[in-house]
Amino acid sequence: MENQYHRILLKISGEALKGHSDIYDSEFLEKIYDIVSRIQKMGTEVAIVVGGGNIWRGNMASSLGIEHTIGDYMGMMATVMNAMCLQSYFENHGLVTRVMSAIPVNQCCEPYIRRKAIRHLEKKRVVIFAGGIGSPFFTTDTTAALRAKEICADGIFMGKNGVEGIYTDDPRKNPDAKLIKKISYQDILAKGLKIMDNTAVGLLVDSEVDVRVFNMNDPENAVRVVKGEELGTLVTNK
Ligand code: UDP
Repeated sequence: MENQYHRILLKISGEALKGHSDIYDSEFLEKIYDIVSRIQKMGTEVAIVVGGGNIWRGNMASSLGIEHTIGDYMGMMATVMNAMCLQSYFENHGLVTRVMSAIPVNQCCEPYIRRKAIRHLEKKRVVIFAGGIGSPFFTTDTTAALRAKEICADGIFMGKNGVEGIYTDDPRKNPDAKLIKKISYQDILAKGLKIMDNTAVGLLVDSEVDVRVFNMNDPENAVRVVKGEELGTLVTNK
């Protein structure tokens, strides 16, 4: 089977980066490097949106008496740290990367400029988007949806840890929960399924970008998806 994706956007949550450690799980870093390098070798361009929840989430602010908006900016700064971590790990193992932040931190990384991001991807650099969308009251899921549209990605890969995709109910609580193979964005909203927040789904509702949700525990799965195997759940308008 041939490579089915020209350009993908991979969403990595802070939770995944944390794994079983305090902030960064070395096993996860190794796994994600393995996945990205294998996909790239197949000729697929890879962009990444990284979350920040392993360090800080905006909703942790209120109980500490910190203003919500400040809490959100702290969350965005956390994603910059995570992007730098990924960059350094990837480059130490031989991948060429660029970090582009929506909040300028010019000593550490490039500012986000859409056309430059596309140029980096064309040159087969892994582009890591940091700083969310640069505005409070949003999430990195929304960032993934927005950047995927901006860079004309064919798909967003949402890797899950030990879960095969989207189910009719929580499979850990309901043994009758069934894996959904294909679903539209409209149905995700109508059924209140929690895969990305509603702002992110709303951005994708009329787009060409598909989301593939699959179990990333086995790095081979990402390769299989790139080859066109129908693993997990496909969220699409088509
Ligand atoms: N955030 C924000 N605007 C954005 C993206 C993120 O304000 O465009 C803040 C928000 O407080 C969020 C935190 O950054 O809680 C970390 O991002 P997120 O929770 O999406 O990370 P993940 O759940 O993927 O680890």
